[in-house]
Amino acid sequence: MTGSRPDLEISRAWLVDPASGREGPGDIVVRDGILTAVTRLTGAEADGIGMDGVVVAPGFIDLHVHLREPGGEDAETVASGLAAAAHGGFTTVCAMPNTTPALDEPGVLAQVRAAAIASGSPVELLAHGAVTVGRAGERLAALGELADAGVVGFSDDGLPVRSAPILRAALAYAGAFGLPIVDHAEDLSLTADAEANDGFVSTVLGLRGWPDAAEEMAVARDLAVLADVLRDVPGARLHLTHLSTAGALGLVRRAKASGLPVTCDVTPHHLALTDEWVAGARRWAWEASGDPWADVAIVAGPYATALRVNPPLRAPVDAAACLAALVDGTADAVATDHAPHTDVDKAVEFGVAANGISGLETALGVLLAAVDAGRLPLARAVEALTTGPARVLGGRSRRNGTVGLVEGAPADLVVFDRAERWTVSADTLWSRGKNTPLIGKELAGRVLVTLAGGRIAYEAPDV
Ligand SMILES: [Zn+2]
Repeated sequence: MTGSRPDLEISRAWLVDPASGREGPGDIVVRDGILTAVTRLTGAEADGIGMDGVVVAPGFIDLHVHLREPGGEDAETVASGLAAAAHGGFTTVCAMPNTTPALDEPGVLAQVRAAAIASGSPVELLAHGAVTVGRAGERLAALGELADAGVVGFSDDGLPVRSAPILRAALAYAGAFGLPIVDHAEDLSLTADAEANDGFVSTVLGLRGWPDAAEEMAVARDLAVLADVLRDVPGARLHLTHLSTAGALGLVRRAKASGLPVTCDVTPHHLALTDEWVAGARRWAWEASGDPWADVAIVAGPYATALRVNPPLRAPVDAAACLAALVDGTADAVATDHAPHTDVDKAVEFGVAANGISGLETALGVLLAAVDAGRLPLARAVEALTTGPARVLGGRSRRNGTVGLVEGAPADLVVFDRAERWTVSADTLWSRGKNTPLIGKELAGRVLVTLAGGRIAYEAPDV
């Protein structure tokens, strides 16, 4: 049962351990919650064990989730969010601070932590603090107090850090504490009233366009300010979250090549879905052309508000750039931007629906679709869910930066079966947020067991 310290043996599985750079056939043994043996199988013992069956990987880390508590408990609670995380294979999640009230002082962090303890979930809850008081963009929050209280970064997510002077000060203060500023890159002057990605699909559907330039201008500003701050504060760090355009990822690729301490993540939906879905197509990004009408790819009605997300689902060329950035390491991590909403907040016109996709429980399946299509190596997908985000966190997880299949440590791992397919429905999701455009889609890779910190976080009923 959830929370107990299990005895478990998984035999003849495919072990993926990015920390050691190894993958291959093997067995694991867990005794009283401790991973006591990791055995690699070779030769005849390994016969018939492939990477297309049962896989064991370190527990996943999500740098960006919205748990809605306090203030939005109709959409999600800490308890339901942590349950959804475990169901999706995640054992560490980082909550964003755009709650009501915002997590801009240690008292709110204490409240969120108390909810996590009360939930009984062994999933590790980390949190980002707000950059500005009330996320209003005007005055810096008490970054030092929040750092002392244990936040893992600072973000006004939902919104960008509004002004360059505030960003400059925030990068300097946070850098002095060794923490990153996690920016949602959006130039609001270009997105007022924007509804969907500015392009062919939005033109045909009559939706007001949301230009790539809004993200790219913000990324360029952030990188320029970071370079400036670094002269005085060598510890300054910038993390750009949910990047979605080819141009923005190109800027980060060049910045990294020039040595700037910038990291970034991409979401499963931005690399696997496109704006074609808003028109009613349901094919993966790597199958898309950008003109779903010409290809007769329309299989659903247009304007489904589950597809409304910030940044918006982009053109196929941008989704391909997100995937390429993941493959080549420009993107350090996959983050879900899990954004649960109530039906009420989505049952409105497309352009005014709440932004966000409930993503914790479909992230693995979406990435495995890319793996199955030959677009993403399995080991790289696992890396982007484990050691990649762990590096962004530095040592600030209870796993202390050591994320791997390590003998003698509390078991923190996920077991999933790539051969088992499941169909996404509201009933299959443990999150209160049923707002996903993947409802009805069949995904591979059912999670069988998730162990977090040596305890059972999720166990499929039939295992
Ligand atoms: Zn955001």
